[in-house]
Amino acid sequence: RYTSAVTGPFSQSALHRLLSSLAILEHREGELNHGSLSAITAAKKIGGSVHGFVAGSNIKSVAEEAAKVEGVEKIIAVENVAYDKTHSRVSSQGLPENFAPLVVENIKKGGYTHVIAGHTAFGKNLMPRIAALLDSQQISDITAVENENTFVRPIYAGNAIATVESSDAIKIITIRGTAFPAVEAQGGSAAVEDGVDPKLEASAEWVSEDLTKSDRPDLATAGKVVSGGRGLKSKADFDRIMEPLADSLGAAIGASRAAVDSGYADNSLQVGQTGKVVAPQLYMAVGISGAIQHLAGMKDSKVIAAINKDADAPIFQVADVGLVGDLFEKVPELTEKLKSS
Ligand code: FAD
Repeated sequence: RYTSAVTGPFSQSALHRLLSSLAILEHREGELNHGSLSAITAAKKIGGSVHGFVAGSNIKSVAEEAAKVEGVEKIIAVENVAYDKTHSRVSSQGLPENFAPLVVENIKKGGYTHVIAGHTAFGKNLMPRIAALLDSQQISDITAVENENTFVRPIYAGNAIATVESSDAIKIITIRGTAFPAVEAQGGSAAVEDGVDPKLEASAEWVSEDLTKSDRPDLATAGKVVSGGRGLKSKADFDRIMEPLADSLGAAIGASRAAVDSGYADNSLQVGQTGKVVAPQLYMAVGISGAIQHLAGMKDSKVIAAINKDADAPIFQVADVGLVGDLFEKVPELTEKLKSS
């Protein structure tokens, strides 16, 4: 779709495309993932109309939930079990191999200028495939929108900030969730429309998944995070020290890559360049040295506290509050004080 400015309908230089964004909304077990509402915030910053996209089996309730999200004009929904992971009654969006051609057909139909997803495991798996199918250059992990063509993104593990301008007709973007506060989940009244379903033969099939279940707050969106590193020495000590600390603060648990690689903590808890990026109100690093790859995942936290026996550990350079001492003494002491306060 094209529109013309003051110089008249046939002036090429004055032509510009009407802005419209498609936000890919993630869902799990029949519920919208509120983390993906940040994609709508980014879409609103770009300007123009904002549509949301969901697909899977029994998608109606997810689509209805998405239609209530503030600032969305339309929800495009595709009902088909082929786009599920579980092939069960409760859906989660499925394999990117099958999802990418589906989204591409809907991008073509809707004439979108921007397609936006979270820089999550799913978004990182899906969007490069869409970009390749559309012959676009993906713009990854943006932290700010300067205008419809220009975006800001950290590079070199957050040590430099690049401002990138794209001339692609369709911009395929993943956004850093911590940089865009989620829009309100209520207050909107979008129309729900059936999307196109190319009904392609599935190139990949979902077999199973093995997820760590936790009653703790979600690491990516928690207000408080306590993270443990190699200083914890073993899985038994990691659990014995970190779990009561997290309980006393109502915090999510994170870990350094060294702690994950040593088997102290689950892979899904890794914070950093190759793990999750978090920006809670409070981030407490316990027995973590503060390597740049770890800092890339937590340095935007509002208050950083560190406990480390080495006074020269680089973590103290970014910490607002630091305690030099043996974590095996200091953390249980702190936990007791927090419990009784
Ligand atoms: P260490 O560096 O070994 O630090 C342990 C700390 O514990 C030390 O500072 C020590 O003084 C302290 N300590 C030990 N005993 C005690 C005690 N009793 N009391 C108090 N303090 C104690 N790392 C990540 O975390 N996340 C990533 O996403 C990530 N991605 C990477 C990607 C690439 C491409 C590469 C090359 C590396 C990546 N790393 C990542 C690894 C990173 O470089 C570091 O190796 C890692 O962060 C170190 O983890 P650590 O701080 O737990 O361990």
